[in-house]
Amino acid sequence: MEPPDIERLDERTVQRIAAGEVVERPASVVKELVENSLDAGASRVAVSVESGGTEGIRVRDDGVGIPADQLEAAVAEHATSKIGDIEDLDRGVGTLGFRGEALYTVGAVSRLTVRSRPPNAEAGAEITVEGGEVGEVRPAGCPAGTTVEVDDLFYNTPAREKFLKRTATEFDHVNTVVTSYALANPDVAVSLEHDGRETFATEGNGDFRSAVLAVYGREVAESMIDVEWTPDEANADGAAGDAVDDAPVQRVTGLVSHPETARSTRDYLSTYVNGRYVTASALREATLDAYGGQLAPDRYPFAVLFVEVPAGDVDVNVHPRKLEVRFDEEPAVRDAVETAVEEALLDHGLIRSTAPRG
Ligand code: ADP
Ligand code: MG
Repeated sequence: MEPPDIERLDERTVQRIAAGEVVERPASVVKELVENSLDAGASRVAVSVESGGTEGIRVRDDGVGIPADQLEAAVAEHATSKIGDIEDLDRGVGTLGFRGEALYTVGAVSRLTVRSRPPNAEAGAEITVEGGEVGEVRPAGCPAGTTVEVDDLFYNTPAREKFLKRTATEFDHVNTVVTSYALANPDVAVSLEHDGRETFATEGNGDFRSAVLAVYGREVAESMIDVEWTPDEANADGAAGDAVDDAPVQRVTGLVSHPETARSTRDYLSTYVNGRYVTASALREATLDAYGGQLAPDRYPFAVLFVEVPAGDVDVNVHPRKLEVRFDEEPAVRDAVETAVEEALLDHGLIRSTAPRG
């Protein structure tokens, strides 16, 4: 057999392949759009989806907006207002987005409309991208802030469309994403609507427990106990003061539920690293380990845990959807989370103390 020729893929094909890594399903689009709204300093973020997001996604915010003459740049490849160069990245990224590819890739696999008006601009404008084809910037009436609409996701990517699950499953994923941002940002009023029905709406009054109540309801909210851990306690036996600043984990805070307030899915174990929602399995496992034998088989608690580590000790750039992170000191992070949750549960008499580990 003759060896086949090696040829460079055309741009459209490259674009679609790359899109598949960022945009796996409606929930990944929702995640990118909500992150953009938060990065824009929004105090309200309203998400509404149709048919689990497969038919329509709309995210509206009251953030800084995008000036009309920047709309084309916003949907262009590798175009971002958030970092300038690789050094910014190494210093640690303060914004949720930084790759400048979300709007571009979503535009490649859907009909995307971005409509925006900065608060001090008199008129708004919009731009539409259809399957990678960028349209003209047109004037558009709109409130201050940005509205992004995504219709017919994957209409031009049948292979991907086939992998989408039932509407209910896709909506569950969307719900998980919006919930996690609502919980991490109690000062932002976040709402979610599915096929015209409101799923939840937080008040945005800055109170974390009130956000938990809005999202999970009274029964769960009332069963949740505070977690508060700093390396001070861990090193109470006389570590030098500056050891705390260098500690691999600086703080673990949040809420975890009574072991009996559990569900049959891990979806309610929300973990955040330096404010960023992640699905780091190490953090979930550490949380579950803290419950010891107190959970019924195949039952998982509710947890909302914020872990703070030195910015340079965590790499958020390892996963195309930025969900998994890599810790320089994973065992220490695991230990801190397990100890933090364990201490909280012990304090409330929800687990029995076990023989000291190690
Ligand atoms: P990134 O978030 O990585 O910068 P995106 O493709 O998500 O890349 O967005 C590109 C740019 O468009 C952003 O850097 C930002 O300047 C602008 N943008 C996107 N969404 C919004 C929004 N909701 N409000 C204000 N600006 C936005
Ligand atoms: Mg973004």
